[in-house]
Amino acid sequence: MKVIISTLNSKYIHSSLALRYLQAYGRTKDEAYEIVEYTINMPILDVLNNVTTLDADVIGFACYIWNIDMTLHLCSMIKAVRPNAKIILGGPEVSYTARELLEDHPYIDYIVQGEAEEAFTSFVKVIRTGQSPVNPVIPGILGREQGNIQGSEEAVEVKDLSTIPFPYTEEDMLTLGNKIVYYESSRGCPFSCQYCLSGNRNTVRFFPQERVREELAWFVDHNVKQVKFVDRTFNCAPHHHIPLMEWMRDHGGQTNFHLEMESILMTEKEVDILSSTRHGQIQIEVGVQSTHDKTLEAIHRRNDWGRIQSVIPPIIKAGRTHVHMDLIVGLPYESKAIFEKSFNDLFSLQPHALQIGFLKLLKGSGVRSMAEYEYIANPKAPYEVLQTHVLPYDDVRMLKHFEDVFERFYNSERYRTVFGYISESLIQEGSAFAYFEEMTKLWLENGNQDRKLNDADQIAFLYEFFTLKRDRVACDLLRYDVLTSFNGKIRDERFGLSKDRKQEMQEAEVFWREESLVQQYIPNYSFVEWRKVRQDYHTIEVCGATLPYLGIPRGSYSAVEVIIDVKGETKPFIRHQQCGKIHLDDLAHTTSVTISEEV
Ligand code: SF4
Repeated sequence: MKVIISTLNSKYIHSSLALRYLQAYGRTKDEAYEIVEYTINMPILDVLNNVTTLDADVIGFACYIWNIDMTLHLCSMIKAVRPNAKIILGGPEVSYTARELLEDHPYIDYIVQGEAEEAFTSFVKVIRTGQSPVNPVIPGILGREQGNIQGSEEAVEVKDLSTIPFPYTEEDMLTLGNKIVYYESSRGCPFSCQYCLSGNRNTVRFFPQERVREELAWFVDHNVKQVKFVDRTFNCAPHHHIPLMEWMRDHGGQTNFHLEMESILMTEKEVDILSSTRHGQIQIEVGVQSTHDKTLEAIHRRNDWGRIQSVIPPIIKAGRTHVHMDLIVGLPYESKAIFEKSFNDLFSLQPHALQIGFLKLLKGSGVRSMAEYEYIANPKAPYEVLQTHVLPYDDVRMLKHFEDVFERFYNSERYRTVFGYISESLIQEGSAFAYFEEMTKLWLENGNQDRKLNDADQIAFLYEFFTLKRDRVACDLLRYDVLTSFNGKIRDERFGLSKDRKQEMQEAEVFWREESLVQQYIPNYSFVEWRKVRQDYHTIEVCGATLPYLGIPRGSYSAVEVIIDVKGETKPFIRHQQCGKIHLDDLAHTTSVTISEEV
């Protein structure tokens, strides 16, 4: 009997941890499942063709909000052309509405509800014997038997996670090299936020500590670029997570570890580790969702803004750990004005990324049944909210565009110097939301929401916005960010970086050929060839007020040319115009400039 387990990932770069756990657990019970992964971007008939070629007796699909529609469509066709194959679905998207789903979709034979390792393996063993997998009941399995839907109606959990083996193999490392590797050290969450399915039971279970350390070492030894922990609240038990974080700090090699953390549980200990680890070793995602107390109470979420303000800034300031924070649009009592306040609160902390999500009324979640908030949502997955009791659709629509603009420009982290400068006044005035809303309005006026813009087009838009704001410093710093973020490869008249650099290079020729002079600024410099100089160093004219943001004392300049190393190895510096004839002493004031870490 052939069993395949599959899923439609949202992107090629993703891989399914759930399938690998199922396969690894099956092996311990002498069951072999073949994994086949697709993406939702593949033509559905190609997927059908591939699945049916495998001629499996049992076909299982892991279902999530991003793939449920396509998975059901696919299953309807598989059943039509392979009527004898048993189709079984699992995953969060089907675990809490299994009966309804079986009633509505006659081509689905069975559903495994909850954590599937034990239930699915028991199911396969029974199917193999030709017996019914729903009578007698297998916990977690609901299915169709002689026209009736019967079996278990409960979502199950694996109580002892140590029974589930490490899911990855040497072979996986060959194919997962460029992909994100997902991993978990615990399951469940001690909280019960009403928009989330992870906290439904309040039961947290852990993989054995020693084993997790060995598995992390295996990832490090295999030079895995990023291990993304799917633990719902990584820092929910100090006896478990503190030693693991210390291990990552001390033995993490070149691997980056992504952790989801709850700020309310963060202490000085976590702050110390995250502030002293190697740069880029760990990145954290901190869901705040709202800073409005009434909203938090309504969704049973425990946040403490005071604690967030005390634990997050030192981590960001230390500059070692990338901090990503989340907000959700559409929560109870959160009107546009209240969301604006939540946004400004989080913006004031200057996280590296501030992600704006939109509430999804997930099947099985508490908010889905809270009629008092008058939710109107997309009836199809991902069930995103379109309107609430305090947030009309037009505001949701505007916030969608706001999120798009903010994501492209602030969260892309390509324009950090310019937004670092702008943020100073926005934080002081509490006007970050208003500023990005104004930017969004211009974006919409220009009709950009309906156009496909390349990087240069987007930069030209940003430059136009800064120009309309009459912000010369922002225009200068944007050109600096463009040069350093895109390695000097994007130049365009529209944002003051001409493609024709002949005159710039002619004027600088004497300077670049005089190695001892250049070494005043770039100690290891030696002239190799023009092409390299031209590639690596670009000159831009900036106003005096811009200089401090590039780490150069303002002096008495009203405008001056600054040399930018696009690789960022040398700090920006001012080359004297008459470089061939000057005394080096004249340059002394520019040789000692330092540039801030952020720049
Ligand atoms: S949102 Fe996070 S903290 Fe809340 S229940 Fe879900 S996983 Fe737990």
